[in-house]
Amino acid sequence: MAIKKQEGILGQAADFFSNIFSTEYWPARWHCGKWTDFHGWLYIISDVMIWAAYFAIPFLLFRMITKRTDLPFPKIFWLFIAFILLCGLTHLIDAVIFWWPAYRLSAVIRFVAGVVSLFTVYALYKILPVVFTFRTAKQLEAEIEQRKKAEEEARILVIENDKAKELLRVKDEFINLASHELKTPLTSIRGYLQIIQMKSLKSDPQNRDLITKATNQTAKLTNLINDLFNVSKMQMGLQPLEKSEINLNELINELAADFETLNRHVSVEADEEVIIVVDRDRIKKVLENLLENAFKYSKADSEVILRVRKVNDRIKVSIQDYGLGIGDDKIQHVFERYYRVEHTSQNYSGMGLGLYICAQIINQHGGVIGVESQLGKGSIFWFELPYQPTQNLSIETYSSDES
Ligand code: ADP
Repeated sequence: MAIKKQEGILGQAADFFSNIFSTEYWPARWHCGKWTDFHGWLYIISDVMIWAAYFAIPFLLFRMITKRTDLPFPKIFWLFIAFILLCGLTHLIDAVIFWWPAYRLSAVIRFVAGVVSLFTVYALYKILPVVFTFRTAKQLEAEIEQRKKAEEEARILVIENDKAKELLRVKDEFINLASHELKTPLTSIRGYLQIIQMKSLKSDPQNRDLITKATNQTAKLTNLINDLFNVSKMQMGLQPLEKSEINLNELINELAADFETLNRHVSVEADEEVIIVVDRDRIKKVLENLLENAFKYSKADSEVILRVRKVNDRIKVSIQDYGLGIGDDKIQHVFERYYRVEHTSQNYSGMGLGLYICAQIINQHGGVIGVESQLGKGSIFWFELPYQPTQNLSIETYSSDES
């Protein structure tokens, strides 16, 4: 049937689509130009081979995305499937045209293939930045290796930590037992020494002096053993507080007087009287330890100042010395058990327990302990305890009643 030609682009398009399969006006490609058999079949076989491959690839891709549902960007695979199938189809039609010159159909297939190809390019361009962030198999392997190494290191650390904890536990157990056993004979020795001291009042002054020295040394030894005993009890959680209302200023003055007998002067700076609920013996121990350190790690005539201040709902006590001071790299460790700063530990006796005991006691009271120090210039050790001003009311009421 002859095709009726229409004018204008719309007319042409209408003609085109209504006669899409028509082969009129074109000869089969064999008859178009001068094909030799070799040339023609080379063209046809090549096109068919390309089409066969383009037809097979989408099947493989389809198999891939249906089996590996975890693959990223599954939609792009569908675009690839469509794009490759359509490209393959253009080659098939090119081969078929040698016998069936369906150039209209060929043009439509090419157009659709072109549009899908451009879509694929756009989609690929969009996902490219994300693809670049993916780690390669090698990178993943290296990461796994690194993680394994870190896990192994952490495992070794845990084992070492457990070993250290076990060692410390055994040490605590031993110290607890040893200090407990040492306490009894030492108490007897102190008792006997006191008796000798009393009996030797009239004896030779040299002997008396020796007895006093022996008594003082025994007192030091008792202190050390008590520290060891207390630390091991603290470790076992066997040190409950025995709180009562105390006058902090009185306690401080009492301590200052004790130090005065040892020719150590404490300058006390306290604005007002502070009544506080604490375990008196323990807080006394803290003050004693901090004052002893202040004198121990300073020159003989160096000043030691003890300050008491109210800061909102807290009481701050600080002890300042102008002694050796502590370096920045050591300061964070001073409250740890058995820690001693190297350069001082060689010249001064001690076990590195005093500050640890202080920290434990202050923590038990819900307080905070700290230190500011400058190497060679001195230190300020301080602690803060919770304080409710109502603790003062009883005293105030009492004094107003009296007046
Ligand atoms: P000890 O005095 O028995 O060694 P402490 O726990 O009381 O143990 O103190 C731990 C370490 O902190 C001390 O060995 C010392 O190096 C350092 N230190 C403590 N107080 C002071 C201070 N006032 N000035 C300088 N260094 C100090």
